[in-house]
Amino acid sequence: LLHKALEMEGDLVEALPGKRTLPRQASVEDLEQALTLGQIRLAYQPKIRCRTGTLVGFEALARWQHPQLGAIPPDVFIPLAEAAGLIDRLTLQVTKQALDWLAELSSEETVRRVGQHVLQAISLSMNISARSLGNSELFDAILRLCRERGITPQRIVLELTETSAMQDATTSLDTLTRLRLQGFQLSIDDFGTGYSSMVQLVRLPFSEIKVDKQFVMTATDSEESRAVIRSVVELGRSLCLNTTAEGVEDQETLDYLDELKCDLAQGYLISRPLPPEEVLDWFTTRETQREERRLLAVEGL
Ligand code: C2E
Ligand code: MG
Ligand code: MG
Ligand code: MG
Repeated sequence: LLHKALEMEGDLVEALPGKRTLPRQASVEDLEQALTLGQIRLAYQPKIRCRTGTLVGFEALARWQHPQLGAIPPDVFIPLAEAAGLIDRLTLQVTKQALDWLAELSSEETVRRVGQHVLQAISLSMNISARSLGNSELFDAILRLCRERGITPQRIVLELTETSAMQDATTSLDTLTRLRLQGFQLSIDDFGTGYSSMVQLVRLPFSEIKVDKQFVMTATDSEESRAVIRSVVELGRSLCLNTTAEGVEDQETLDYLDELKCDLAQGYLISRPLPPEEVLDWFTTRETQREERRLLAVEGL
């Protein structure tokens, strides 16, 4: 019987469409090689103020284009890096890339060329794995990288997912407090998906709370999602945190967030994560359009 069952299972698997074309999974060796060859690049997603539409910063998101396997999503390779003990190496690499990019983007020269002082003040958000919180050398290195480029830590936002930040609150507290004292901003990412205790949230020195995109993306269709968004924004406000919504895909949602007095927004409506070479074009096109709209408003049109 067992034999028969296995045979049948075999048939079922054979019958799955596309089975033969399934590529192999990326391995730890692949990832190690990618790190050695510098194949992990970054995309930058803008973050705006809901009220005014002003650009306030970018979030750096890791991208891995494997020469044979194609694009491997961060939801796959970040856990792989964590499991293989490669996450700190990855974090250091992407931090260096992102800080170089920020220094370039907000340099005197770029600002003169684009004629936009906004660029000198924009922030950079980076995702930090909870596994890295115990590694003080990593954070010393990040601070050094900032100093070398003349970037104040106040412009850097370190994002930790809700679950990870809460898991070991006491160990986290030391590291997070130190980072906060050095001037880094700290953000709770994907809020609403984990099991945060409000008590811990108040104890940890965060400066921003991000409503998870699963609620924001469904805000127009789901009263439940809107209820979660309302309470997170409310919680953030009462704790004096910046409130940010990620995954804003339509104007209706952005208007709703503004109504709730949510501070910041991020999502495909504003822009997809952009390769570094496209960021300045995106920004100048957007500023031109905003200026045109301002002029039309002044003329009462
Ligand atoms: P996250 O930090 O919560 O990033 C937001 C994710 O939502 C990104 O996915 C982004 O591309 C996506 N997104 C943004 N706006 C929209 C939208 O309007 N609609 C939809 N459907 N999606 C949107 P991505 O780039 O695939 O990253 C996934 C996760 O991987 C990140 O979630 C973050 O937790 C992790 N990650 C990415 N880069 C790094 C990194 O350098 N280090 C670490 N530790 N984690 C990273
Ligand atoms: Mg994030
Ligand atoms: Mg998130
Ligand atoms: Mg996420």
